[in-house]
Amino acid sequence: MILLPESFESRMKVVLGNEFHQFRESIHSTVNYSVRVNPNKIKGAVNLTPVKTCSTGYYLDQRPIFTLDPLFHAGAYYVQESSSMFLEQFICHVQKKTLRVLDLCAAPGGKSTHLCSLLPPDSLLVCNEVIHSRAMILSENLKKWGNPNVVVSCNDPRDFSRLPGFFDIIVVDAPCSGEGLFRRDPSAIDEWSDSNTALCAQRQRRILADVWPALAEDGMLVYSTCTYNPAENEENISWLSEFTEVEGIELAIPENWRIVTTEASDIPCYRFYPHNVPGEGYFTAAVQKKGRVDAEKRSKEKSVLPLASKAEQLAWSDLLQQLPLSLVKFEENFLAFPTNQLQLLDLIKAALRIVHAGVKVGEIKQTSLVPAHELAVSTIINTSHFPSLDLSLEQSISFLKRDDFRLDFQDQGWNLLTYRDYPIGWAKNIGNRFNNGYPKEWRIRMSTNEYTGERLIDEAKKFPLNEL
Ligand code: SAM
Repeated sequence: MILLPESFESRMKVVLGNEFHQFRESIHSTVNYSVRVNPNKIKGAVNLTPVKTCSTGYYLDQRPIFTLDPLFHAGAYYVQESSSMFLEQFICHVQKKTLRVLDLCAAPGGKSTHLCSLLPPDSLLVCNEVIHSRAMILSENLKKWGNPNVVVSCNDPRDFSRLPGFFDIIVVDAPCSGEGLFRRDPSAIDEWSDSNTALCAQRQRRILADVWPALAEDGMLVYSTCTYNPAENEENISWLSEFTEVEGIELAIPENWRIVTTEASDIPCYRFYPHNVPGEGYFTAAVQKKGRVDAEKRSKEKSVLPLASKAEQLAWSDLLQQLPLSLVKFEENFLAFPTNQLQLLDLIKAALRIVHAGVKVGEIKQTSLVPAHELAVSTIINTSHFPSLDLSLEQSISFLKRDDFRLDFQDQGWNLLTYRDYPIGWAKNIGNRFNNGYPKEWRIRMSTNEYTGERLIDEAKKFPLNEL
């Protein structure tokens, strides 16, 4: 029996009226697990129940041990709560062909990886996380997702005032009191208090005010929380509309989605309750910025980033798909970044603390190319250039754990290892053994001893993209 805080219950009784009983019951019902597949990677149809609000979202019948699934490490899907996939509805509403997008509170990367899949080609996505350790997790997830048009920064929201009017879309998935997670994570109840909800509301206003100057004229800000507290939701949206000139964004939502529409100073807001939707509690609203915005003037000069020489570019060209990418030198490494966005990268680099950009393709040691792990799992790799070896599930897990084991290679040198044809990393065949190119810091650390033979096959049957 989950015991809810008294003052939370009293507030919810007022908000929900005679629906409160159903809401209370739903806190004890089973959680729906869901994933979003990577449209740039998946091969074939997905045989799962779709999430209505998201073209790439699916529910799972049961929760597998994702760590044991090589396709999870390959960035073929992301485990994400289904209510938050609603972001897609706002993004699809935008007509502009090329977008500059900021995901301000981005770790661990649910919305960021979703945005990667939604944005039109030639768009740029800046994913920011203020806490450095979380920015590292965000980078890992984005590297696995594999898109080259992404920058990860580690900045306080106020730093974005250095990029006035720069972004067409800003997503603020704000840190909140987490009431919508009480069912999935009852420990959130222990962290909840009235005083903390008030602090959250204040912090959210500061975040909104700090990032607002970075939004372009007519740009869209999408705000969301995973809480029910009106002070962190509608009241913040009303406050924003008093503090600046905005227009609400109204979506045509089918009734059978059972999302509750509320209003904050004429701005439509969307509430997700677990007794109505097959997901967790969530709130979201979007506004369009009105009034004049003096945007950053872009210089017409060429990018100042150190580009690879013609010879270096030629050396890498066969390893990459023929895309409009430029290679930039960063210390010993080469990064691939969309050519049409190099100038923007210059501007961002001058304003923010960047922790990741584009796709690291590798380095040149003496005269040999050493491919980076990021390239293997990226969407820009030319897989046909490399000898490859498709591993069994057991072998893939051993590789991802960086265990010592033998593989039967046909070719010397760098081999692309795959699981069911999805790249999972590199191994350099050096005769009687191989060098494992999987990043040490990402390796599977859990003990997998009990998951062998039949037990592993049973577990694999629960994997989202299994073929068993
Ligand atoms: N958008 C993420 C996703 O979809 O995976 C989840 C974001 S989580 C709800 C909120 C994030 O805001 C956390 O990663 C947290 O570290 C960050 N955060 C905490 N305090 C912050 C602040 N003062 N300013 C900006 N971000 C903050």
